Amino acid sequence: MRAAVFHEPGTPLTVENVDDPSPAAGQVVIAVKRCGICGTDLHATEEHDGLLVPGTVMGHEFAGEIVEVGQNCSTDWKPGRKVTGLPSHSCGNCLPCKTGKPMQCENNIVLGLQRSGGFAEYMTLDTHNSVLLPDSVDWVEGALIEPLAVGLHAINMSTDIRGKRILVLGAGPVGLAVSFWCRFMGAYHITVTEPEQLRRESALQFGADAALASGAPAEVLKEIEKAAGGAPDVVFECVGIPGMIAEAVEYARHGGEIMVVGFCARPDTMVPAAAMMKELTARFVVAYDKADFDMIAGLLAMDKLDVTHMCTGTVGFQDFSAAFESLRTPNSHCKIMLDPGAT
Ligand SMILES: [Zn+2]
Ligand SMILES: [Zn+2]
Repeated sequence: MRAAVFHEPGTPLTVENVDDPSPAAGQVVIAVKRCGICGTDLHATEEHDGLLVPGTVMGHEFAGEIVEVGQNCSTDWKPGRKVTGLPSHSCGNCLPCKTGKPMQCENNIVLGLQRSGGFAEYMTLDTHNSVLLPDSVDWVEGALIEPLAVGLHAINMSTDIRGKRILVLGAGPVGLAVSFWCRFMGAYHITVTEPEQLRRESALQFGADAALASGAPAEVLKEIEKAAGGAPDVVFECVGIPGMIAEAVEYARHGGEIMVVGFCARPDTMVPAAAMMKELTARFVVAYDKADFDMIAGLLAMDKLDVTHMCTGTVGFQDFSAAFESLRTPNSHCKIMLDPGAT
């Protein structure tokens, strides 16, 4: 089959012929119909952080059709069914696995980074980490469940955003998904701060009431208070670089809440007293639970979500590598997807 393979940082993915996958027990093989390109993919191919294994087929935002069923799968898993899944090969036995959090599994293997993912004609999935989709959910919607789940998880882990003033730091796909769900779940006012003009415009399409240029927090806070009528009750940090948690502390109102969503693997500093003097609550979250996928699949099945506009481009294998590289520079795309069946 054809697949886009990562070889080394700084080199574009190459489309190659690789072996067709076959299902182990508890697995199915799917024909991938769509797979989105993620910021994580771009970062992982820039610098070698040890997570992305050379020779791996990338892609973790996939939807497809079952073509082969391994042993020990329940009868619901049959050829022709639509499916998406968490990009996770987990042990199923540790505490995170038993509580529906395979992405936090002690032995987790991430599909698309450490094991073959969805930038391919076919891939294998563990049925226990996958979700069957009704026929009414289309391929684009199915492949958007993963990026939407990142935002939904952050909201589900927060105390309550209903009727609240929200500040979202960063309008990348994670910030946009957070903004989308805050609107859907009934926030009162949503401000997004973001340095890039194009992304600020996207934020307004994703539910934000105000999109402000990033700047010195003392100055930006004045603009937020003017737009929202007060300092934010809940701040979602969706940037993931050092210094952002300290900024979130500056923005939050007294007694407010900070949700740390942006993935930052570098040391960061903050002044605890600044957060203490406001008696803030902070919560750190990562990825999603199986339940987040189930909830979005359910909402899509009931036709409650209008999300297909999030996919702003579709390419076949021929243009895939160039499209992937083009996302490294500022652009107006929200999500470009691979359609392995396109010419
Ligand atoms: Zn992703
Ligand atoms: Zn586990």
